[in-house]
Amino acid sequence: MNLNLSDILKAKGISPSVQRVSILRYMTEHHTHPTVEIIHEALSTSIPTLSKTTIYNTLTLFSQKGLIDSFVTDDNATHYDAVMTHHAHFKCVRCKRIFDLPFPELEKVENSDFEINDIKLFYYGTCRFCKEHLNN
Ligand SMILES: [Zn+2]
Ligand SMILES: [Zn+2]
Repeated sequence: MNLNLSDILKAKGISPSVQRVSILRYMTEHHTHPTVEIIHEALSTSIPTLSKTTIYNTLTLFSQKGLIDSFVTDDNATHYDAVMTHHAHFKCVRCKRIFDLPFPELEKVENSDFEINDIKLFYYGTCRFCKEHLNN
Protein backbone atom coordinates (compact mmCIF):
# COMPACT_ATOMS: atom_id res chain seq x y z
CA MET A 1 0.00 0.00 0.00
CA ASN A 2 2.75 2.44 1.02
CA LEU A 3 4.82 1.48 -1.99
CA ASN A 4 1.92 2.01 -4.38
CA LEU A 5 1.18 5.47 -3.02
CA SER A 6 4.87 6.40 -3.20
CA ASP A 7 4.91 5.29 -6.81
CA ILE A 8 1.81 7.35 -7.57
CA LEU A 9 3.51 10.44 -6.12
CA LYS A 10 6.79 9.76 -7.94
CA ALA A 11 4.93 9.33 -11.23
CA LYS A 12 3.58 12.87 -10.72
CA GLY A 13 7.04 14.24 -9.94
CA ILE A 14 6.27 14.63 -6.23
CA SER A 15 8.89 13.36 -3.76
CA PRO A 16 7.09 10.87 -1.48
CA SER A 17 7.71 12.15 2.07
CA VAL A 18 6.07 10.35 5.00
CA GLN A 19 3.64 13.25 5.43
CA ARG A 20 2.63 13.33 1.76
CA VAL A 21 2.12 9.56 1.63
CA SER A 22 0.02 9.70 4.83
CA ILE A 23 -2.18 12.46 3.44
CA LEU A 24 -2.65 10.64 0.13
CA ARG A 25 -3.46 7.41 1.99
CA TYR A 26 -6.07 9.21 4.09
CA MET A 27 -7.62 10.70 0.94
CA THR A 28 -7.81 7.35 -0.88
CA GLU A 29 -9.26 5.54 2.16
CA HIS A 30 -11.82 8.18 3.18
CA HIS A 31 -14.26 9.21 0.48
CA THR A 32 -15.92 11.64 2.88
CA HIS A 33 -14.72 14.88 1.27
CA PRO A 34 -12.66 15.98 4.27
CA THR A 35 -11.48 19.51 5.00
CA VAL A 36 -7.92 20.41 6.10
CA GLU A 37 -9.19 20.49 9.72
CA ILE A 38 -10.64 16.97 9.54
CA ILE A 39 -7.48 15.51 7.98
CA HIS A 40 -5.37 17.28 10.61
CA GLU A 41 -7.51 15.90 13.41
CA ALA A 42 -7.22 12.37 11.98
CA LEU A 43 -3.47 12.36 11.29
CA SER A 44 -1.99 14.55 14.02
CA THR A 45 -2.06 11.73 16.60
CA SER A 46 0.25 9.55 14.47
CA ILE A 47 2.25 12.49 13.02
CA PRO A 48 2.37 15.20 15.72
CA THR A 49 4.64 17.42 13.59
CA LEU A 50 2.07 17.65 10.81
CA SER A 51 0.69 21.20 10.60
CA LYS A 52 -2.50 22.42 8.94
CA THR A 53 -0.35 24.57 6.63
CA THR A 54 1.55 21.48 5.45
CA ILE A 55 -1.72 19.65 4.84
CA TYR A 56 -3.11 22.62 2.93
CA ASN A 57 0.06 22.98 0.82
CA THR A 58 0.18 19.23 0.15
CA LEU A 59 -3.47 19.13 -0.94
CA THR A 60 -2.91 22.14 -3.20
CA LEU A 61 0.07 20.34 -4.78
CA PHE A 62 -1.95 17.11 -5.23
CA SER A 63 -4.73 19.14 -6.80
CA GLN A 64 -2.36 20.89 -9.23
CA LYS A 65 -0.97 17.50 -10.25
CA GLY A 66 -4.46 16.09 -10.86
CA LEU A 67 -4.39 13.57 -7.99
CA ILE A 68 -7.37 15.04 -6.16
CA ASP A 69 -10.13 17.56 -6.70
CA SER A 70 -11.41 20.28 -4.41
CA PHE A 71 -14.60 22.27 -4.06
CA VAL A 72 -16.10 24.92 -1.79
CA THR A 73 -19.48 24.41 -0.13
CA ASP A 74 -22.14 26.94 0.89
CA ASP A 75 -20.43 27.44 4.27
CA ASN A 76 -17.18 28.45 2.48
CA ALA A 77 -15.32 25.33 3.63
CA THR A 78 -12.94 23.76 1.10
CA HIS A 79 -13.39 20.00 0.74
CA TYR A 80 -11.02 17.56 -0.94
CA ASP A 81 -11.99 14.56 -3.03
CA ALA A 82 -9.78 11.70 -4.28
CA VAL A 83 -12.54 10.30 -6.51
CA MET A 84 -11.55 11.76 -9.86
CA THR A 85 -14.35 10.34 -12.02
CA HIS A 86 -17.08 12.84 -12.93
CA HIS A 87 -19.71 12.84 -10.21
CA ALA A 88 -22.15 15.18 -8.54
CA HIS A 89 -22.36 15.92 -4.82
CA PHE A 90 -25.17 15.89 -2.33
CA LYS A 91 -24.87 17.81 0.91
CA CYS A 92 -27.19 16.89 3.75
CA VAL A 93 -28.46 20.08 5.33
CA ARG A 94 -28.95 18.25 8.66
CA CYS A 95 -25.74 16.27 9.32
CA LYS A 96 -23.60 18.27 6.80
CA ARG A 97 -22.19 15.08 5.31
CA ILE A 98 -21.32 15.18 1.60
CA PHE A 99 -22.16 12.17 -0.56
CA ASP A 100 -21.24 11.25 -4.13
CA LEU A 101 -24.03 11.04 -6.67
CA PRO A 102 -23.84 9.99 -10.32
CA PHE A 103 -23.70 12.88 -12.74
CA PRO A 104 -26.95 12.97 -14.74
CA GLU A 105 -27.11 13.12 -18.52
CA LEU A 106 -23.80 14.83 -19.16
CA GLU A 107 -24.30 14.59 -22.93
CA LYS A 108 -27.25 17.01 -22.73
CA VAL A 109 -24.96 19.67 -21.29
CA GLU A 110 -22.44 19.32 -24.14
CA ASN A 111 -22.70 22.17 -26.58
CA SER A 112 -20.56 22.64 -29.68
CA ASP A 113 -20.24 26.38 -29.02
CA PHE A 114 -18.48 25.82 -25.71
CA GLU A 115 -15.76 23.42 -24.73
CA ILE A 116 -16.56 22.26 -21.21
CA ASN A 117 -13.58 21.35 -19.00
CA ASP A 118 -15.22 21.11 -15.63
CA ILE A 119 -18.70 20.99 -14.14
CA LYS A 120 -19.57 21.21 -10.46
CA LEU A 121 -23.01 20.03 -9.51
CA PHE A 122 -24.34 20.25 -5.97
CA TYR A 123 -27.58 18.99 -4.50
CA TYR A 124 -28.84 19.96 -1.05
CA GLY A 125 -31.34 18.00 1.01
CA THR A 126 -31.77 15.32 3.66
CA CYS A 127 -29.67 12.14 3.49
CA ARG A 128 -30.98 8.59 4.06
CA PHE A 129 -29.50 8.40 7.58
CA CYS A 130 -31.20 11.60 8.70
CA LYS A 131 -34.46 10.56 7.00
CA GLU A 132 -34.45 7.28 8.99
CA HIS A 133 -33.73 9.20 12.16
CA LEU A 134 -36.62 11.60 11.47
CA ASN A 135 -39.03 8.71 10.87
CA ASN A 136 -38.22 7.00 14.18
ZN1 LIG B 1 -27.81 13.62 7.00
ZN1 LIG C 1 -17.03 13.32 -4.38
